[in-house]
Amino acid sequence: LKPMLRERAWVEVDLRALAHNVRQVRRRLSPTTDLMAVVKADAYGHGAIAIAQTALRSGASWLGVATIPEGIELRNAGIQAPILVLGAVNTSEQVEAIAHWHLQPTLCNPKQALVFSETLGRLHGAAPLPVHLMVDTGMSRLGTCWEDAAEFVQWVQRLPHLNIASVYSHLATADDPDPSMMQLQHQRFEQAIAQIHAVGIVPPRFHLANSAATLSAPDLHYDMVRAGLILYGLHPAPHLVPDINLQPVLQVKARVTQVKPLAAGTGVSYGHSFVAPHDLTLAVIGIGYADGVPRLLSNRLSGLVRGQRVPQIGAVTMDQMMLDVSAVPDLQPGEIVTLLGQDGNEIITADDWANDLGTISWEIICGFRHRLPRVTV
Ligand code: PLP
Repeated sequence: LKPMLRERAWVEVDLRALAHNVRQVRRRLSPTTDLMAVVKADAYGHGAIAIAQTALRSGASWLGVATIPEGIELRNAGIQAPILVLGAVNTSEQVEAIAHWHLQPTLCNPKQALVFSETLGRLHGAAPLPVHLMVDTGMSRLGTCWEDAAEFVQWVQRLPHLNIASVYSHLATADDPDPSMMQLQHQRFEQAIAQIHAVGIVPPRFHLANSAATLSAPDLHYDMVRAGLILYGLHPAPHLVPDINLQPVLQVKARVTQVKPLAAGTGVSYGHSFVAPHDLTLAVIGIGYADGVPRLLSNRLSGLVRGQRVPQIGAVTMDQMMLDVSAVPDLQPGEIVTLLGQDGNEIITADDWANDLGTISWEIICGFRHRLPRVTV
């Protein structure tokens, strides 16, 4: 079966934009700070392998994934860079997979560290495993409380088969205009570092910053930043659009499949939530909610065609949706409609969709399904 890449609808991934963004971010870091490209969730919906390879060529030196299979996918593609699994790993089968595929796990508590050490001890000839210790400074997700960090680090230090590769934490409110909680997390992380040093342990690496802190808080960069969103060309928050030029990497496009006149008073799509107020020209495009276009955006989306913005009308259906293309003379089946991205001077961003839905751009870009081929340009 030949991949029908641009026949119906697709996600277009601009690797030059990604490389540009990685270089822009890299330029803001000190030479001693590493850049981890966070490529979990199929690189936020962009396609993990091509994104990881391009990021590594452009200035990133680490990769971050959420799960073991995500890491294996990258190893199977021949990627040799260090890969940190950010999600929790608890069973001995998972430990074996981590060791086999040379992935690096996040350890969240002493008990889990013990499972790792014991499992590795049973594996014949396993090399010491680099592990990353997660400290909870206020996210209240994974990790050991910052007050117990030194004890946790000491515990892992004493276990055989484990090498502490880093100690890290994750920020809960880095994209909030009010910096006070981020500052509190910073103080707690500093306190944890001081206590770890006080017991005579010097981990090779500390890290804390996500995209927002990478942009706004150089004093939180430490030895590495873990950046996702900004590498994909999106800003974590409106107030974090400083002097950095980011280019969106992802666009969503679909072809017109049919064009026909629609008489005034005719209802469109399931439920007839749109009724033509006057005679108009309707176009059908082959993309729907099963591709990841939120049905909640029915009658609120726009499409860009021949550089013009046209309104989407009626309910978004599973595989198709309709547009009012009256403003576009003689539109033909096969022409391309941009749902997210740029056409001429018009642009529709993931933030536009996110604001309309009351969600965040992260969720929008992760939401495009695998039925949409990822086409790199
Ligand atoms: N670090 C961890 C632990 C994460 O879970 C994530 C993503 O959610 C990131 C870094 C990257 O976040 P962002 O996309 O805001 O840069």
